[in-house]
Amino acid sequence: MENPSLTGGTKNERKIEMICDNIAVSKEGRLVFAGCDTVDLAHKYGTPLYLLDENKIREKCRIYKEAFKKHFGEGSKPLYASKANCFKRIYEIMTEEDMGIDVVSSGEIYTALKAGYDISKAYFHSNNKTDEDISYAIENGIGYFVADNIEEVKAVDREAAKRGIRQKLLLRLSPGIDPHTYEAISTGEVDSKFGTAIETGQAEEITLLTLDMPNVELVGFHCHIGSQVFAEDVFERAAVVMLEFIADMKKKHDYTALQLDLGGGYGVRYTESDPVLDIDQKVGEVAAAVKEACNRLGIEMPEIHMEPGRGIIADAGMTLYTVGTVKKITGYKNYVSIDGGMPDNPRYALYKSSYTCLAANKMNEEADFKCSVVGRCCESGDIIQENVLLPGSMRRGDIVSVCTTGAYNYSMASNYNRLPRPPIVMLRNGESYVTVKRESLEDLCRNDI
Ligand code: PLP
Repeated sequence: MENPSLTGGTKNERKIEMICDNIAVSKEGRLVFAGCDTVDLAHKYGTPLYLLDENKIREKCRIYKEAFKKHFGEGSKPLYASKANCFKRIYEIMTEEDMGIDVVSSGEIYTALKAGYDISKAYFHSNNKTDEDISYAIENGIGYFVADNIEEVKAVDREAAKRGIRQKLLLRLSPGIDPHTYEAISTGEVDSKFGTAIETGQAEEITLLTLDMPNVELVGFHCHIGSQVFAEDVFERAAVVMLEFIADMKKKHDYTALQLDLGGGYGVRYTESDPVLDIDQKVGEVAAAVKEACNRLGIEMPEIHMEPGRGIIADAGMTLYTVGTVKKITGYKNYVSIDGGMPDNPRYALYKSSYTCLAANKMNEEADFKCSVVGRCCESGDIIQENVLLPGSMRRGDIVSVCTTGAYNYSMASNYNRLPRPPIVMLRNGESYVTVKRESLEDLCRNDI
């Protein structure tokens, strides 16, 4: 098999169409990402190295924003799910692109504030906000809470009362929809740790209790059914369940929900076998289902929000590593060990997530050497990907690239085995700049006394 699926392209490059249109190959057989030679980047900044394509992030923001405007109209909008990748520069880009955001911790709020993001546009999620989180968020003027349960609503009410304000809030409900994704990343089912179930009657209960609280203003409802969703009509079904609940609340209690947030989750392409989703078309289909349901139920359409995380940033990312050892266990298995691993990308260890791995400096060579790309940690589960095809000539010093790592890599990174976290280098119009510095050995001991 030839290294990746190579096709056409410009005079000096060939495009790799299998994953994303920001990946190409130079005539010297080097992997090019967002117009930059990845081998040069690996040498300039060192490895492991996170790369992010700024133009791709902006392009995705615009695709989502335009689709919402076209199909739902003014007011409805996408919110970037910060948990996918959170650092100061991303919030500057979100400000420039006029994107809403969601946040899940004081840490994400702090980072957004440090970047000058207008936090009154932010929605504060999570299934267990501490009193400190709630107080910090209100103190800094958070726009909306998305309360997971009644304990949280009460805590927000208490904190709002202390400051004499009425805090806007949505309730997270579980619509009981199975998104057909891996269990650990599906969250909208009734027995989930997230949200309050509609089916059990608890959603109605919490709605009534919230409406009775003097210091919170219930503006609507939220749900998130799961991630990496490709299955047809999942969001449409969730929207209909939520709208039926909204209509029920209107009929029984004369309560009008102004906002309905359908969460994140559209799938992205990690490998050639993942489909390409047409976001304009997908949002159009959800809008058609929402409008049809609102007409049938006789209610006004609320503002509709969605919270793409990986949909905005996953394929804007790539990670580069340097090969250390190549181990061939005759008759059994081959290993290519790289200088990072589960501390910078724990997703295979967590979910057996698929990734595409390429030999960045050997793109013209045949890829017929089957191996596992593994990390450098003292953990046999420290695997980036199994059954990878790389060139048989792989050896110490070669550069391995892992594609589509923009989401849930840096944001999930740890210092396991006391490894410093890699830097993030942003690529823009063929140029590169550091946006998060590489951690130093001193950084690792920063809080040790
Ligand atoms: N919203 C909520 C509440 C989530 O829990 C998540 C992911 O876990 C997202 C949005 C973003 O999902 P994705 O990155 O798959 O779009």
